[in-house]
Amino acid sequence: MNVNRSRQIAEEMDQQDLLKHFRKQFFIESDDTIYLDGNSLGRLPNTTKTLLSEVVEKQWGTKLIESWNRNWYQKPAQLGDKIAPIIGASPGEVIVSDSTSLNLYKLAHAALKYQKGKTNIVSDELNFPTDLYILQGLIKEFDSDYTLELARTHDGISIKTEEIKSKITKKTALVVLSLVAFKSAFMYPLDEITQYAHDMGALVLWDLSHVAGAVEIELNQSGADMAVGCTYKYLNGGPGSPAFLYVRKELQEKLNSPVQGWFGDARPFEFDLNYRPAKGIRKFLTGTPPVLNLMAIEPGVDMINDAGIGNIHDKSIKLSEFFISLVVSELVEPGFTLGSPDDANQRGSHVSLKHREAYRICQALIQPKTSAIKIIPDFREPDNIRFGFTPLYTTFTEVWQTVRRLQEIVKTKEYENYGDERSEVT
Ligand SMILES: *Cc1c(COP(=O)(O)O)cnc(C)c1O
Repeated sequence: MNVNRSRQIAEEMDQQDLLKHFRKQFFIESDDTIYLDGNSLGRLPNTTKTLLSEVVEKQWGTKLIESWNRNWYQKPAQLGDKIAPIIGASPGEVIVSDSTSLNLYKLAHAALKYQKGKTNIVSDELNFPTDLYILQGLIKEFDSDYTLELARTHDGISIKTEEIKSKITKKTALVVLSLVAFKSAFMYPLDEITQYAHDMGALVLWDLSHVAGAVEIELNQSGADMAVGCTYKYLNGGPGSPAFLYVRKELQEKLNSPVQGWFGDARPFEFDLNYRPAKGIRKFLTGTPPVLNLMAIEPGVDMINDAGIGNIHDKSIKLSEFFISLVVSELVEPGFTLGSPDDANQRGSHVSLKHREAYRICQALIQPKTSAIKIIPDFREPDNIRFGFTPLYTTFTEVWQTVRRLQEIVKTKEYENYGDERSEVT
């Protein structure tokens, strides 16, 4: 496609974008920085800036400990109820607590105890390493009968439905999968896998870190048992903001948290010497939450509810499809290949590109020496650049500019000015 024509199309799509007014609600220092890493750390909502100074000055500063009753104590459950519609859950099924890693530990542990007699756990080799590490640790903690079976990828991008199904047997206690894979953005068919696991008598725990706030799903309808996910990615909760966890209503009374902290007790402020689990989802809390990070979650979640997750997902698909169409027409010859599924039904909200010079190209995008535009995606070993599309603030024109810049970097061999040594965080 002609360059001017594709730019014009991008501008038209921005004009018609239902969600275009949300971009102004984020702190964006300069339009010369194109931020495509909202799938790792979402941008800062303007309201969060104001809210945090109020929390520090008025709540912590002035009201001190009284703020627990006035503002803080109920927040994990209130936020859970606001996150619920974003993932297709009901009030009372979601709560904010700890990190995604720890929540995964708590729920997987609870599920294994509940499924006594079944000793097999199923996951896949595209899963985020922390999920696999937690499961490996659980196997050590339980006993030597327990096994972890990983479904294999045939192409490094996706997992075939037959492949994952073939790993789930009558011995499977628990299936733990990322609904959207962190590297390739591959997305499983939620209903089909959940249903199949249930038919085999297994419980399913979905990691929604790359789903919540970007992809519309119906957790309740799918019958999913448990889920966990980050709030600092597409939910824009800020660095290190605590995670959420979901347990289907009927299952809540049957599962027990392995970390019996006082926040999960029925009446923490009676200071009884014996633990009695709280009713409902609250029993999965552990101890005092990081209040500043916790409070920072609300504005991002409110904005997503305002915009509507359906609208957000629609725009996510449009952004990704536009990007992929430009990749196919402009970036194949410079040596890029698609590292994500090309079917939008099998993809989350980022698109990975592979290139043998991926690392140095990524450096040139982030630290340009000649271009006025700085573009921030991220790099994932060995040769992936991930471009995260965050519908509330990513524009079609930014997508277009990114493709132009990639073309330029490879054509002029600009990447040769950069080293290949990796930073600690990539
Ligand atoms: C980002 C991410 C995590 C991170 O877990 P933390 O405990 O917050 O560090 C876990 N799982 C998946 C799938 C992720 O994408």
